[in-house]
Amino acid sequence: MSGAVWVREAVLDIGAAAFPDASPLVVDAWSDPSPIAGGVRHLVTVAMGGDERPADPAVCAGLLRAFTDAGWRSHGSHSRDGETWAYAKRDGFEARLYEGAGPGILAVTAWTSVLYQGRDRVQPAHTIGTVAGDAVLCTECEGLGLCRACEGTNRLNHRRCPECTAGNHGPGYCSYCGASGMMQVDAMPGWLEGHFPGLAEPEAEESLFGSTNTGAFVDAVPRTCKTCGERRCAYRNIVTADGEHLSSRFFGRCPRCGAKRAYAYRLPGSGK
Ligand SMILES: [Zn+2]
Ligand SMILES: [Zn+2]
Ligand SMILES: [Zn+2]
Repeated sequence: MSGAVWVREAVLDIGAAAFPDASPLVVDAWSDPSPIAGGVRHLVTVAMGGDERPADPAVCAGLLRAFTDAGWRSHGSHSRDGETWAYAKRDGFEARLYEGAGPGILAVTAWTSVLYQGRDRVQPAHTIGTVAGDAVLCTECEGLGLCRACEGTNRLNHRRCPECTAGNHGPGYCSYCGASGMMQVDAMPGWLEGHFPGLAEPEAEESLFGSTNTGAFVDAVPRTCKTCGERRCAYRNIVTADGEHLSSRFFGRCPRCGAKRAYAYRLPGSGK
């Protein structure tokens, strides 16, 4: 079984076990190129738990337990203002669990390690689809988190690598981001901001209609960045009451150009 198939089936099985009354739904499945030519990573995003869950961080904690019951290792969780993030790893696979506020969507994005044709190469710190939060993929190393010329060895043609020996972050590392492969927007040096055209754009929020919150998520995910055309985005989600209706806001930082992307869906009222 390929890694892409394995990780999708594993996440679907965990979702079905954790929420027997709500079928897990594959919202997106895609591949990221590696910064090292010939490498590719496969990713999948699955929505789980349906739309009738209580707004409770315990739901995400329970889902993390379902991952550990299935043989994954927990890499911690944190909550803020009703949103919860949790992380799990297993055998080169990683999963990011997210529950929005309200309750917002409960979604798992999981990925394979970068698979290379031929000999194994170094694993990048990030590919574009694994960047989340208020961060962007490093334009210099494209996520590698190492000097691209020597792939972190500091050796090139039997000499010290001229690209990174005197770099800002030390021999072997990317001179822009060090080892992280991405950059936090808040902590980015001013001279780098010009590499990310979206940072200068105002937030572009679009107003839309949906029938369910999961349906709104399915509608939002294929939409592309108005600044750079990138589709990938680790959306967050906050659902609030808005008179007779619900308002569901999907939003996130474009991992390619730094633009703030947002979609506000008006949904039928919950009747609660
Ligand atoms: Zn870098
Ligand atoms: Zn180097
Ligand atoms: Zn963009």
